[in-house]
Formats: sequence, C-alpha cells, structure tokens
Amino acid sequence: MIAVLVAILILGRLAGSLWLSALNRSEVSRHADAPPPAAAAVMDGPTYSKAVAYTLARSLFGGVTEVFDAVVLAAAVLTGALPALYRGVSGWGSPGSAWAGALFVVICGVLLSLLSLPFDAWEQFRIESRFGFNRTSPGLWAADKAKGLGLGLALGFPVVWALLALVGWVGPLWWVWGAVLVTAVQLVMIVLYPMLILPLFNRLEPLPEGELRARLMALGEKTGFRAASIQVMDGSKRSGHSNAFFTGFGRFRRIVLFDTLVAQLSPLELEAVLAHEIGHYRCGHIPKRLALSTAGLFACLAAVAALAGSAWFNPAFGYPAGAAAPALLLCGLLGGLVTFWLSPLFNGLSRRHEYEADAFARDALGGPEGMVGALRKLAEKNLTNLTPHPWFSAFHYSHPTPFERERALTAAR
Ligand SMILES: [Zn+2]
Repeated sequence: MIAVLVAILILGRLAGSLWLSALNRSEVSRHADAPPPAAAAVMDGPTYSKAVAYTLARSLFGGVTEVFDAVVLAAAVLTGALPALYRGVSGWGSPGSAWAGALFVVICGVLLSLLSLPFDAWEQFRIESRFGFNRTSPGLWAADKAKGLGLGLALGFPVVWALLALVGWVGPLWWVWGAVLVTAVQLVMIVLYPMLILPLFNRLEPLPEGELRARLMALGEKTGFRAASIQVMDGSKRSGHSNAFFTGFGRFRRIVLFDTLVAQLSPLELEAVLAHEIGHYRCGHIPKRLALSTAGLFACLAAVAALAGSAWFNPAFGYPAGAAAPALLLCGLLGGLVTFWLSPLFNGLSRRHEYEADAFARDALGGPEGMVGALRKLAEKNLTNLTPHPWFSAFHYSHPTPFERERALTAAR
C-alpha cells in the first residue's frame, strides 16, 4: 500500500518535472528565431542562438538525469537491497548501535553519490565543454570529487552518529536535541567554510589595491557594511561561469567575487553587484533564510522521530520498526518528493529577497545603470535563457529572470 503510494509520488514528480522541462523547451524553441525585442540589448544574434542551444542541450540532459534518478530512488526504497545491507551492517554492532546505524546511512549516501558521478562528468566534459565553459581538467575534477566525498564523510558521519546516539541518550525527544545540535554545527560551519573548506578547492586573495578596491571599500563604508575584506576567488580554474557570493556572518562575513566576474564587469557594475550582496545583508535576508531552514530542520527531524517510532513506517520498506537510522535515510530520500511541489513557494520568497537587494543596490548607487549593466553582461556571458516558461521558472528559479529584474529596477518608484 505504502509502496504503491511512494511509486505514485516518484512517478508524479518525474512526470511533473519532465513536463515542465518540455514546456520550457517549447517556449525557448518558439523564441529561437524570434528573440524578444529586449534581447538585443543583452546579446547579439549569434550569442542568442548559442544561449538557445545551451538551454536545450542542458534541458534534454537534465531529463535523462531525472529519469535515471527516479529509477535509482525507486530501487533504493522499493527493493530489498538496502534493507539487506542494513541487516548486514547492523549485525556488526550491538542492537540499536548508533555507529552501525550511522555507517549504514553513510554507505547509502556514498553509493548514491557514486552513481551520479558519470552524469556529473558528462555534464562537465561534454555539455559545459561544448559551450566553452569548462576549464576543469579530468584530474582536477577527480580530485574535487574525492575531496568532496572525504569532506562529506568527515562531516556527515559524526553528525549522523550523534543524532542516532541521542535516541539512546535522551529518548523520544531526541529530535529536539538533534535539531539544536545540527543547527549549532551549521552555524559553526558558516564561519569555518570560507576559512577552512573553500581554500581546499580555490585560491582566495584580497582584491588588490587600486581604483576598483578603493571604490568598493568606499561603497561598503557608505552602505554601513564594513567588510573585513573583499576577496577574489579563482573560479576560472574550473569554469567560465561568473558569480559573486556572501559568506560567513558577524565579524567573519566576507564577500567573494569570482575572478571571471572581475574580468567581465566594469567598475560601476562591480559596485552594483557588491551593493546587491550588501543589500541581502542590510535587509536581514541572511537571518531570515537561516530561521526558515532551521524551522524546516526541526520539522524534518520531528517527522523522522514520529515515523521511526511508528509501527508501520519502517516495516513498509523492509526495516524493523523503531530503528531510527532507516527512518532517517528514508526521510532523506523521500523528502524531495514532497518539497518539489513546494519549490514555487520557496523560490517566490527567494525572489522577493532578490528584488529587495536589487532595489537596495539601485538606491545605494543613485540609479539603476550599474545593476542593469551587470545583469545584462552576466546573462550574456553565462548564456542565460532569456525566455524561460513561467511555470518552469516558478519551480526552478531562485532568482527572477534578467528581464524581470531589469523591469523592476527601472520601474518608476
Ligand atoms: Zn542576490
């Protein structure tokens, strides 16, 4: 009965997602030879055609990946393979052993991430390469994956172990303490990430002295954001895509600009990008996002605890009732089947924040020119799809489209 429901949920998400992608492809193809008039200000004809081809290639490949993922998910939750693994692994520890449970969850995580490697490689070395974005060598790619896996194990195993150990230590309310623990780990990681983890993958250097740095520091001063430093990251080592982001908080906050971004944008446009990032900070978006994700975490662990304690949930998937490790794994695997349908809600919130940060940048710079210029150039250099289908963007876009942002920036206040 539950197996049938889960199969329906898996097929439902797959069908929904493939249908959205097909809608998006037809919308893009419809505009392939008839670009919207506003596109001329963003990219020339040949670049527009290339952006269309890039969007279509990624969309078709994404469809193949989604079908594969659905088959893997169905095999993981609906066959006896993982329950057999669970029986084997839990035989190594005493009944209810937290470390055996954690080992089971981590082995499943590693197996699933190994299965996705060929798809990651294809995307990087076939699609990204074909459109001139890939700068990664196979050696660097393999080293990145190995480091990522090592980090995942080093961080994931202790956290899962602690969660499962809490079941024995504090009883039925373990999930409350578990959520507090995971939140604390996340806060520590936000501070440590730019200091310890980012440097494992990239070289970060302070923006060198000069006119650009002086302008950006003056902007920080003016907007009440005294950045400890503005750093430039060697994103060009891996990809031609450009970006900027904000990391850390409080005394540890810093703004990171990709070297590709610094090379592509004018000083005024870089000021706008920086002002946008400061906008997220000054409008309080970071604590809001943290609060939302913490609430989500409490809800998820409450669900895990309730389902693990129920007489029906684990047995429906071939696991013994009362065991927290399989319930944790199952919730991790199945959660996306529900949250997929909520993504327009979360994306809507994220977009509201993007509009607010854009407006902050416009006001800080005394006009929309810098922000509009930056958005146009980023869309051009990243071969952004200028005509996504509205339903597709509702499900997949955390940012409004470049045209939507430009319209909001230049609208009369
Ligand atoms: Zn933003």
